[in-house]
Amino acid sequence: MHQPHAEPRRSIYYRYQVFQPWLPSAHSAPEQVPVVVVGSGPVGLTTALALAQQGVQCVVLESELQVSEGSRAIVFTRRSMEILQQVGVADRVSANGLPWRFGNSFYRGQRVFRMEGPHDADDRFFPMINLQQQYLEEYLVDACVAHPLIDFRWGNRVTALSQGVDHATLEVDTPDGTYRLQAGWVVAADGARSGIRSMMGLKLEGASYEGRFVIADIRVDLPLPTERLAFFDPEWNPGNTVLMHREPHGIWRVDYQLPADETPEQALAPESLKARIDAQLAMIGHPGVPWEMDWCSVYSARALTLPDYVQGRVLFTGDAAHMLPIFGVRGANTGFQDAQALAWRLALVVKGVAPEALLHTYSQERVGAAREIIDEAGKSTRFMTPPTRGFRLLRDAVLSLSLTEPFVGPLYHWRTSRPHEYTHSALNSLGDDNALFKCGPGRGAPPQNVCLGPDDYLLDRLDHAFQLLYFTDAAEVPSALRQVVQDFRVRGVPLRVLAVGASAPVAGADDVLADARGQLRARYGVTARGAAYLLRPDQHVCARWMSLDAERLRAALSNALAPTAGQTTISNQGA
Ligand SMILES: Cc1cc2nc3c(=O)[nH]c(=O)nc-3n(C[C@H](O)[C@H](O)[C@H](O)COP(=O)(O)OP(=O)(O)OC[C@H]3O[C@@H](n4cnc5c(N)ncnc54)[C@H](O)[C@@H]3O)c2cc1C
Repeated sequence: MHQPHAEPRRSIYYRYQVFQPWLPSAHSAPEQVPVVVVGSGPVGLTTALALAQQGVQCVVLESELQVSEGSRAIVFTRRSMEILQQVGVADRVSANGLPWRFGNSFYRGQRVFRMEGPHDADDRFFPMINLQQQYLEEYLVDACVAHPLIDFRWGNRVTALSQGVDHATLEVDTPDGTYRLQAGWVVAADGARSGIRSMMGLKLEGASYEGRFVIADIRVDLPLPTERLAFFDPEWNPGNTVLMHREPHGIWRVDYQLPADETPEQALAPESLKARIDAQLAMIGHPGVPWEMDWCSVYSARALTLPDYVQGRVLFTGDAAHMLPIFGVRGANTGFQDAQALAWRLALVVKGVAPEALLHTYSQERVGAAREIIDEAGKSTRFMTPPTRGFRLLRDAVLSLSLTEPFVGPLYHWRTSRPHEYTHSALNSLGDDNALFKCGPGRGAPPQNVCLGPDDYLLDRLDHAFQLLYFTDAAEVPSALRQVVQDFRVRGVPLRVLAVGASAPVAGADDVLADARGQLRARYGVTARGAAYLLRPDQHVCARWMSLDAERLRAALSNALAPTAGQTTISNQGA
């Protein structure tokens, strides 16, 4: 019988709430559900919320009785915030997190590079915001529990899974005994050590890296701004790297690399931790400042992915699908994009609006994203923890040169997590006018936010449907386009029309964005009435036209729901 840990986890700043387990004997719950999400980490929770917003009922099974132990992911990107805005928790993250945009790299005590994250008046969110993962999970759990379509079950551990043609059966262990649950689809969001992956005998592909890091969260009062600090080859840790990040509640994350021959047990010994953290605080000019440990762990980078995230009725997402180095804040941030890419497709498949083949495009896009990230993250990881003598020589040459040659500084700029552009997606409409645009988000790209007025941004106005941004100052959307929109709505496709550039209501449009300053038109490269962008429910562009006609709109929507075989081939090549 499953006995989850019932004592609150220890923390000096976060009060863990232990929830009551969901017991099968106390419920007469249905044993057949459309979707079961296994795992209530950030990715499972976001997927459940996004599914519920699309009107899909789901059960969330979580083996523990409380949120994540330790802060784990602490840096969330602008794109993650945009996704969290879609599922309704961005306001709480903004209210409680620490936004930032500068990073500093030091070599032997001297600052050699200052990175600036792009940010302008059209961005609602900063490039990065720091918040401990427990808080984020708490906000997501609150939103899930409040949603009538989500049945949240704490203390329910999946122990076995079998698949039929049109369903999967889960065996679930609880403090009250086991029960069976039949699901049309299972979202495997059960984390890096995914039991579901093991039960199915699936293997991750890729590499693990040698270097090991201690991750320590300490409470300390440091009069420093919220900026990322990276120290290469510091005096107290020669040849290695140290990173520091400010977190809310007076907490600082200190990550430091270990010598190759040191074991995790040696590294986590209290005297070892104390000596090193004291040395780091002294090095940054605060010797003897009092500090207190909250949580620590040892981490080594892995860059692994499943080759296919769709395995019959089981859909892998987040760390269960891939393990990515945390340098460049890729773990959770990548997972949010998985969740967003999966939920709308699964919702349309569950509702019978789109064929199951649509789910394969989820795998194509997100495996492609993971492979691209693995490639980029590998470069960062090799710079941070050189795997061979050759890499170390090269890295050290860059470090030494940077003291005297300013042109070397940007080589310190490891690429942080950025949203993947599905340039080769099978869902992109090849018959559009993408090539004619001089700017704006291209086919497959996520949208660019645009400030429309005081506290009013483009992404605030989007919901969970396909969105047609139709640029017009006329009184109505042409009837031929309205007919196409109506035809797809009748089929159950969620589709909204937003008229951009009109000053009065437009017949056939669900909303009007006046765009009085012309900023949206300028940033989206629109020069004439009748241009349009079609955004998928995950907000990525799948077609754009300088002049939209009904036939091309119909073709683009059809393709975004059921891509043709020819385009699937293109996508595979692109990934
Ligand atoms: C030490 C450390 C530091 C990190 N730092 C960063 C960082 O700075 N930035 C960053 O972006 N990422 C970081 N990460 C990675 C980040 O925490 C993960 O990428 C993120 O948590 C992945 O979310 P997930 O929902 O996929 O999986 P998880 O958060 O692992 O959630 C999986 C959930 O599934 C549950 N579960 C597992 N098995 C079962 C089962 N059989 N039945 C039911 N439930 C089950 C687990 O209890 C858990 O709640 C760090 C990770 C670690 C370990």
